Amino acid sequence: MDEKDARKLIVEIGKLMYDKGYVTSSDGNISYRLGDNLILATPTQVSKGRMTEDVMALTDLEGKPLNDKRVSSEIQMHLLIYRMRPDVNAVCHAHVPHGTAFAAAGVAIDAPILSEVILTLGCVPLTAYGTPSTPELTDALKPYVEHHNALLMENHGVVAYGVDLWQAFDRLETLEHTAKIAILAKVFGGANDLPKDAIEKLINIREKAGYLTEAARCQACGYLEETGIGCEHSEKSKFQFPDSNGHGAKISLSREELIELLSQASKLS
Ligand SMILES: [Zn+2]
Repeated sequence: MDEKDARKLIVEIGKLMYDKGYVTSSDGNISYRLGDNLILATPTQVSKGRMTEDVMALTDLEGKPLNDKRVSSEIQMHLLIYRMRPDVNAVCHAHVPHGTAFAAAGVAIDAPILSEVILTLGCVPLTAYGTPSTPELTDALKPYVEHHNALLMENHGVVAYGVDLWQAFDRLETLEHTAKIAILAKVFGGANDLPKDAIEKLINIREKAGYLTEAARCQACGYLEETGIGCEHSEKSKFQFPDSNGHGAKISLSREELIELLSQASKLS
């Protein structure tokens, strides 16, 4: 997408975010990766519902301004995601009311209650509170950026990202919709979790269809662990053992093989 179209789409998505009540006042920000070291982003102190195409700021991946528009200091959250995820080209940050209610209550959106969410978004972890616009915030996000597509920021808001602007917005919308349903279900005693075999089928479908890659099995979801399909069950552990000449030789062991080996070793000693 060229810069002209990206500016137009950011204005459109900003209006959607404002009209849907995802942001108020000058909250939130949207950005798009135009090139290897070129980011187009919404400016500071502007309502996302009243933007025009000419207000956007340009920065490099370190946040250095590349035009005369001032970018929000929250851009560091976006830049961290771009640096860590080469597959991501768009980021939406908002203070969506239902999702932020989870974040303010210190609760992750990680229950397996909706099939569509398992298929297209996965779990949304809660990241520890960090003062907005400081390295505290980006440090708290760092451990989760790689395997998740959206994050809750404790006592602050949410961020969602994707391959393009629509995917980032759709993920933000899915997050908010899920949070709203989970809160409404509390009226009836709380949502029921999907059974383990149904979760496993959904994980297989999403990988075959390409909605999410196998890497999403590494997400911080209790149900992946309980179902036994989390990434630590499929990834090979790599250990170095010395060869007969005393030099290091790499071998691979599965988790089960390693447990077996350690239990045999403990019997010998
Ligand atoms: Zn914010």
